[in-house]
Amino acid sequence: MNLRDSIRTIPDYPKAGIMFRDITTLLADAKAFRRSVDELVQPFAGLKLDKVAGIEARGFILGGAVAHQLSAGFIPLRKKGKLPHKTRAVEYALEYGTDIIEMHLDAVHPGEKVVLVDDLIATGGTALAAIDLLTQAGAEIVAAAFVIDLPELGGADRLRAAGVKVSTLVSFEGH
Ligand code: AMP
Repeated sequence: MNLRDSIRTIPDYPKAGIMFRDITTLLADAKAFRRSVDELVQPFAGLKLDKVAGIEARGFILGGAVAHQLSAGFIPLRKKGKLPHKTRAVEYALEYGTDIIEMHLDAVHPGEKVVLVDDLIATGGTALAAIDLLTQAGAEIVAAAFVIDLPELGGADRLRAAGVKVSTLVSFEGH
């Protein structure tokens, strides 16, 4: 079983020139889903982590499973306006315009060890915004883990340059 083969590619979605890497096919395949979670968890086996933070929405599915396997808590990092209690927000640049992600102020406590999880890293803008939110709250970022890397977009290198350990399971060329 090859994880890469379980990921579907949709050309020109959501716009021309983007090769959308669709993990719904991976999630629907019991063996591929389990293998992905096992491989995401593997670098942290035996470590005592406090929390896993997942980025809305696909990061919730993978991050929730990773948190369960690590016996850690889970922190949802959400799009603006979705969290009901007091939040901290970070704005970050997209290719066109900006976006905002939010976290509850009491989601993480100073000194807690946190792993960030998302489905895919491209430019790294989203993950860096997430790391900014977590570190502002005093979290210690142990690592960031993704199923898919698009290395040509440089996100994993940007995170590493910022001092964050990065693990990825499958790489695809291009955007
Ligand atoms: P970035 O902030 O550029 O690293 O983009 C990462 C976020 O955008 C992740 O939450 C991904 O789910 C999504 N994303 C970016 N590019 C793609 C792509 N080619 N296929 C699927 N999702 C993508």
